[in-house]
Amino acid sequence: MSYSPYLLKGQKALVTGASSGIGEAIARNLASSGAAVVINYHSEAQEAQKIVDDIKTANGEAFAIQADVSKEDQVKAMFSKMLQEFGTIDILVSNAGIQKDSAFIDMTLDQWNAVIGINLTGQFLCAREAAKEFLRRGVKPDISCAAGKIICMSSVHQVIPWAGHVNYATSKGGINMMMQSIAQELAPHKIRVNSIAPGAIKTPINKSAWDTPEAEAKLLQLIPAKRVGDVEDIAKAAVWLASDDSDYVNGTYNTICRWWYDFVS
Ligand code: NAD
Repeated sequence: MSYSPYLLKGQKALVTGASSGIGEAIARNLASSGAAVVINYHSEAQEAQKIVDDIKTANGEAFAIQADVSKEDQVKAMFSKMLQEFGTIDILVSNAGIQKDSAFIDMTLDQWNAVIGINLTGQFLCAREAAKEFLRRGVKPDISCAAGKIICMSSVHQVIPWAGHVNYATSKGGINMMMQSIAQELAPHKIRVNSIAPGAIKTPINKSAWDTPEAEAKLLQLIPAKRVGDVEDIAKAAVWLASDDSDYVNGTYNTICRWWYDFVS
């Protein structure tokens, strides 16, 4: 991707779940657009360090922090460490997420709690910590015309029901309302809160849906654009939402790319 390396110059970003997939692509693209980036990871320490090393090799600034985003004490510790190292935060990309699928009547409370805890409560915890710092610091006009930007990773399943994934679809529906509520509350403080709602993107989370020609053909029946998305499709949207180019964009859920169901719902 080719944004200017000065687009986000001087800005400090945190990307959760950045050791793979969409989060990794967003972190790499924020860095190549000039931001200093914290790579949050849960268990993939080596993968996170490799991304940090690659960013530094390209003269960027990055470091990795381990934290489970569903745990309040770990989220607070992650933000403290980031503020200690980088001094502040300008951009939060709340991306970490999991799927634990099951037929509804067989779904255990553990499966429900795990997905709601990481996908929804994790985004609440991270957004709250970021907002505290944005409010404390306010706008720094030499950095950005916003006091801070929060980008939540949602899904087309924020509006499209998904049998066998009630925990996942509920978590994404929750993100949709949480994002709009926070955006409304923080807009007077020049804080922008938006989400990205991807359709199918080729990453480890949904590998079984695209890793054979038969599975991919089935998936493509749902996608009017007739292409399964790539992580770069999402990273481009994230860089734009993080930049002042989207200064008048607030409280929006940016669907990339829409499904047939989504067009009729
Ligand atoms: P992925 O599995 O590659 O990425 C998920 C990341 O979250 C991983 O790096 C994982 O280690 C991290 N993670 C999991 N639990 C965590 C925790 N407790 N604390 C911190 N990090 C944790 O899959 P992905 O497709 O890149 O998913 C990224 C986001 O995009 C998720 O929120 C997912 O729901 C969303 N999404 C993906 C698709 C898709 O088609 N791939 C579509 C819509 C939405």
